[in-house]
Amino acid sequence: MAFVIAETCIDVKDGVCTEVCPVDCIYEGGRMFYIQPDECIDCALCVSVCPVEAIYPDDRIPEQYRPYIAINAEFFEDKVTGWGSPRGFEPEYRTDKDHPLVEKIERRDI
Ligand code: SF4
Ligand code: SF4
Repeated sequence: MAFVIAETCIDVKDGVCTEVCPVDCIYEGGRMFYIQPDECIDCALCVSVCPVEAIYPDDRIPEQYRPYIAINAEFFEDKVTGWGSPRGFEPEYRTDKDHPLVEKIERRDI
């Protein structure tokens, strides 16, 4: 299991979840943050601090957000960043890129 960031993070992206994650497995993209599924230890700390309820465990994610399981995982693959598993956020693991499905979502003024 891993936790997953879903659509309501897009264009909000305040980074609060990154401050509580004990293993720094939440990484910054252009319009949202993404959880590295192999690094997440399922502690759920991030869920309680997210102001827009964007974070779910992958086995209990609402149906409309199920694509975000793959979107979070694929962000780290060659099709987006190619970072793989960096084993913890560092400043060089920050990008303006997003998963192609996230790029297609209309911008919101929040
Ligand atoms: S569940 Fe825990 S380990 Fe996983 S992203 Fe959230 S805070 Fe980090
Ligand atoms: S706390 Fe929620 S809205 Fe803020 S960056 Fe994390 S997932 Fe996105």
